[in-house]
Amino acid sequence: MAPDADVKFIKGIGPARAELIGRELGIRTVSDLLRHYPSGYADRSRIYRIADLSGSDLPAVQLKGRFVSASLAGEGAKTRLVAAFSDGTGVIEVVWFRQIKQMRQALSPDTTYVIFGKPTEYNRHWQIAHPEIDTESAAADKTGLRGIYPLTDKLRNRGVTSRTIATWISNVLAARPCLEEVIPDNVLAGYGLMAINDAIRAIHRPENMAELERARFRLKFEELFFLEINILIYSRTRSRSLLGHRFGRVGRFFNDFYTQCLPFELTGAQKRVIREIRADMNTGRQMNRLLQGDVGSGKTLVALLTMLIALDNGSQACLMAPTEILATQHFQSISELVAPIGVNVKLLTGSTPRREREEIHRQLADGSLHILIGTHAVIEDSVRFSRLGFVVIDEQHRFGVAQRARLWSKAAVAPHVLVMTATPIPRTLAMTVYGDLDVSVIDELPPGRKPVQTVLRYDAQRQRVYDGIHAQLLQGRQVYIVYPLIDENEKSDMRSLEEGYEFIAHLFKDFKVACVHGRMKPADKDRQMTRFVSGEARILVATTVIEVGVNVPNASVMVIENAERFGLSQLHQLRGRVGRGADQSYCILMSRESISANTRKRLEIMTSTTDGFIVAEADLKLRGPGDLEGTMQSGLPIELKMASLVSDGQIVEAARRAASALLDADPDLERHPAIRARREALYPAACDWSRIS
Ligand code: ADP
Ligand code: MG
Repeated sequence: MAPDADVKFIKGIGPARAELIGRELGIRTVSDLLRHYPSGYADRSRIYRIADLSGSDLPAVQLKGRFVSASLAGEGAKTRLVAAFSDGTGVIEVVWFRQIKQMRQALSPDTTYVIFGKPTEYNRHWQIAHPEIDTESAAADKTGLRGIYPLTDKLRNRGVTSRTIATWISNVLAARPCLEEVIPDNVLAGYGLMAINDAIRAIHRPENMAELERARFRLKFEELFFLEINILIYSRTRSRSLLGHRFGRVGRFFNDFYTQCLPFELTGAQKRVIREIRADMNTGRQMNRLLQGDVGSGKTLVALLTMLIALDNGSQACLMAPTEILATQHFQSISELVAPIGVNVKLLTGSTPRREREEIHRQLADGSLHILIGTHAVIEDSVRFSRLGFVVIDEQHRFGVAQRARLWSKAAVAPHVLVMTATPIPRTLAMTVYGDLDVSVIDELPPGRKPVQTVLRYDAQRQRVYDGIHAQLLQGRQVYIVYPLIDENEKSDMRSLEEGYEFIAHLFKDFKVACVHGRMKPADKDRQMTRFVSGEARILVATTVIEVGVNVPNASVMVIENAERFGLSQLHQLRGRVGRGADQSYCILMSRESISANTRKRLEIMTSTTDGFIVAEADLKLRGPGDLEGTMQSGLPIELKMASLVSDGQIVEAARRAASALLDADPDLERHPAIRARREALYPAACDWSRIS
């Protein structure tokens, strides 16, 4: 049977059902049907013993034995057939509520049957209702694991069951379909992969778990192989086509800063990462690098030092932050740091007055402005640099690939790009999700930091929490209290913030309290934030606008209200706002008492570790890679049916290695037309992308 044949020709389908499954499941060809993988399996690989049945919520099992009795019970509409089935180790009750007459006639006491169904405990004995029944010889054909197929309600209503689909697939398999093998022989051999037609048979009708695992491995590998081929072609095309500035010199700016202004010894990780970035900016190709480092690991200083290298090589640099508050803070700390060495730094945000904006435009154009720091405002068309060579993007998840592309268009030669993020993800995953980026990691915190003590508290324990806050305030420290404001327009969220503010202001009368939220005017927000940063206000009541990057080393307590409503990565970011000085800091997760076991588990990850990598991995496992895949969709599409970027990390790595080796030998897939065709079918949009940029 040809893989591209219409499914309507398959025995048992026909035109009407072909139309239906085309609409409901997108299955149109024989190949589509074969690629409709089971979502689970019924285990017919072994016969269970009745004596061994135990536990609750058992899966469907196979039992082999004889019916030792059968009789009618109940009356009228409630009549049912109850039989006793014995396998020599025990007896199980089998009941039928329908088809009673037929079953009664069909069952023979002298025949050995194999029955298959889900045992439930009923009145302290085992019972199976409406099992599948086969004679011993008929059951021999059904051994192995049997696929359970994803369905839709419409399909169920039209009488299509998982078994129907299994039957269609069996009919196709019996006609020996021949899918084209797209993975080269050497890759199949090198990674011990099953051939495609074997894998397809095994995924639908595996003989045993081991065979199923091999089939899964092969099919996941295939998906990831094409994903990696696609990503690698994209990034290689870009890196081949985009010439970059050569920043070979380390000169006055860097050296003066290093010898005169460096506020502390760099950590080993900071030094290593700076070396990686320097090397990458001197290859003649454009750098596209992701800098991962936990909150508080000192990414800003790395950004500054590498910007100074750009200045030493006659370029301008630009640092872009996701919020006005963060941009302002970067501006303040950086301009203070570089003041002694005569670097001209300016801040550009949505609220920069026109006069100042015009001055910035002028200085950018005549080259006298060295470093521009700002928000999205810096990518507006009116902003023109005379020689932009280096761009740093802080907290990249807020900037898509398309926005990065706008920066490239701001200079004749694409500037080097350094994207900084505090949401660490496993390296292979990062390379896959961020496709075209190389990755550097700061895996070390500055010395002398004490891990933030994190605790989970419930409403009943509020008073104790406030007592603790009071003690810290008396020691001169500052405190954050964060409310979830998931939806800025959500009235109840606003109310809890406002009430919280009033309550806190009243409770801690002797201390000044600032308050910020996302619906404030930027100028008001700024004023409130400044009160807290300067130390005038000792408590900041806020929504998550403070999430990224605010740096107040004197703050020692972070209280997060309704912590159960935040994601783990977000909680970790918030926690990173404290613990920035040498003293002990605290993070208090406030939660309702009635939370699900899952939520409690999530919050307990926070209380058990301060390692951002562990938190991020746990977050990925609990939440799935949804967000990451979303990030990816902004640039490179991703479509995985079977593999998971999170839990199949090793297969991702293997597939990447294989894809990389193949492209080393055949960069344009000239000798692999089948792979090229498959890639274009899978990723039509991406194929356009690589041509555009
Ligand atoms: P993040 O990586 O979260 O952006 P920051 O760059 O804001 O972290 O740095 C966090 C704090 O650590 C800042 O107060 C910064 O001055 C300080 N810091 C950075 N590098 C070092 C270092 N090598 N030694 C000591 N403190 C450092
Ligand atoms: Mg930062």
